[in-house]
Amino acid sequence: MPKRIVIVGGGFSGLHLVRRLEGLMRPGEIELTLLDRNNYHLFTPLLYQVATGELPPHAVAYPLRLPIAHARQRFVQTDVQGVDLERGAVRTADGDFAYDHLVLVPGAVTNDFGIPGVAEHTLSMKTLADGLVVRKRILETVENAARETDAERRRALLSFVIIGAGPVGVELASSLRDLMDHSLRRMYPEIDLVRDARITLIDAGDRVVIAMDERLSRIAAKRLAEQRVTVVLNTLVSEVAGGIVRTKDGKEFRGGTIVWAGGVRTHPLVTGLEGAALAKDKRLVVDRTFRAGRDDVLSFGDAAYFEWEGRPLPQLAQVAVLQAPAVARNIAHLVRGEALEPYVYQRKGDLVALGQTHAGAELAKYGHIVLGGLPAWTVWRINYLMQLLGVRNRSTLLVEWLLSYFFTRMVVDTP
Ligand SMILES: Cc1cc2nc3c(=O)[nH]c(=O)nc-3n(C[C@H](O)[C@H](O)[C@H](O)COP(=O)(O)OP(=O)(O)OC[C@H]3O[C@@H](n4cnc5c(N)ncnc54)[C@H](O)[C@@H]3O)c2cc1C
Repeated sequence: MPKRIVIVGGGFSGLHLVRRLEGLMRPGEIELTLLDRNNYHLFTPLLYQVATGELPPHAVAYPLRLPIAHARQRFVQTDVQGVDLERGAVRTADGDFAYDHLVLVPGAVTNDFGIPGVAEHTLSMKTLADGLVVRKRILETVENAARETDAERRRALLSFVIIGAGPVGVELASSLRDLMDHSLRRMYPEIDLVRDARITLIDAGDRVVIAMDERLSRIAAKRLAEQRVTVVLNTLVSEVAGGIVRTKDGKEFRGGTIVWAGGVRTHPLVTGLEGAALAKDKRLVVDRTFRAGRDDVLSFGDAAYFEWEGRPLPQLAQVAVLQAPAVARNIAHLVRGEALEPYVYQRKGDLVALGQTHAGAELAKYGHIVLGGLPAWTVWRINYLMQLLGVRNRSTLLVEWLLSYFFTRMVVDTP
């Protein structure tokens, strides 16, 4: 009898696991079902480029049915509602899915830290729909500003506040400035976008991209200053109202558009698990073989709390992709009744895009060397071209990057 493997989530973890399992499992050993509410995998590192018109949405969405059809397994597009560990079943909007081994990889969700007004008055950057909403808002804002005759009101419309100076906030701010200074400036001669468009980046930490190497923070801060992005550090946001961001130390920032890039929290499918061990941040505690305290439940990626050298691994695509082959091997071992292999983490480094031909790169494999400017930008582009799956997506990415660089970005407000 084939073992029933159910994977919840076709993100970086689920997608790469399916691909790895295909190469490992023998015919008839497993019956695999992948569940996701979307029928595509979102390549989040390039979402900000969708928001700023550098890429069309289909460049960053990879059809989940492709690897599943290739592996001759099953995909079901459905909303997963819960997991019943006792019964060994996943509850969904389309009925229950019983499993012998569950791989729970639903990622994480946007965290507003309970700050009043964030949910109502900010745009978020997590899903493809979020990226498109941000793009629409930017383009509508510029159209409205072009009609506005009052200089003060025009400047208010064109003020963008981004909360969170992690990689998402920094890359968005930098790319937004390029969009204003280059593509849009030429198309809106009636507004002085270079003078009037203001971008403010606020963060509670004492440096931008705080989770990265300090040298990358310095490169990013220097570039943001060159791009006239106002960076406000050591500042905790306490409330967001319509068009206003208030901080704990009594400051107020006005924004025609306010984007929340403040981080993620554990997915409700994990926090709602009954009888599982959860960490302080509510992630699912897994051992070095990715088991959540039992052989029938495994997890990795953003949902899992995997401790390495006394600290949990960060919630990064890089981590999920690196873990996937090891998880696949352990599933094969479980199915065959063999001993499991403990995972050894080898960090690759960090990349941050800083607009035009600028980026920052830290290469862990090469003695943690840090690059900036054009060399880092080249590493960044090659890395993402290689990481994106599918010839079609890669070709789209390459062509769109060339078009955006030499001509103009996607600056029409299409659905
Ligand atoms: C804007 C943005 C930019 C990022 N940039 C980078 C970067 O540059 N580098 C980097 O390393 N990391 C980056 N990250 C982090 C990275 O995206 C995550 O660490 C990674 O996606 C985690 O993979 P995962 O498989 O655990 O979760 P995800 O990739 O989030 O996948 C979870 C999947 O589960 C599905 N799902 C969730 N809930 C349900 C449900 N109830 N029912 C059905 N399906 C469900 C989702 O649709 C999704 O497909 C970024 C994140 C964001 C939001």
